[in-house]
Amino acid sequence: MSEATQKRKRKCISCGINISGTNAASFKCPECGYRIYRCAKCRKQSNLYECPDCGFTGP
Ligand SMILES: [Zn+2]
Ligand SMILES: [Zn+2]
Repeated sequence: MSEATQKRKRKCISCGINISGTNAASFKCPECGYRIYRCAKCRKQSNLYECPDCGFTGP
């Protein structure tokens, strides 16, 4: 088992769970273009997100 290679982790921006392999949405921050991921659950609930890069918040 060699898990040395660091894969880019995909985490839901709202709840922080690992969303790799799930039906998650990805979009870019309208302010800075930072790639944001949100899990299906949070998308369904329309949870707010906050861009970790510029602090932009949106639905
Ligand atoms: Zn989530
Ligand atoms: Zn941003």
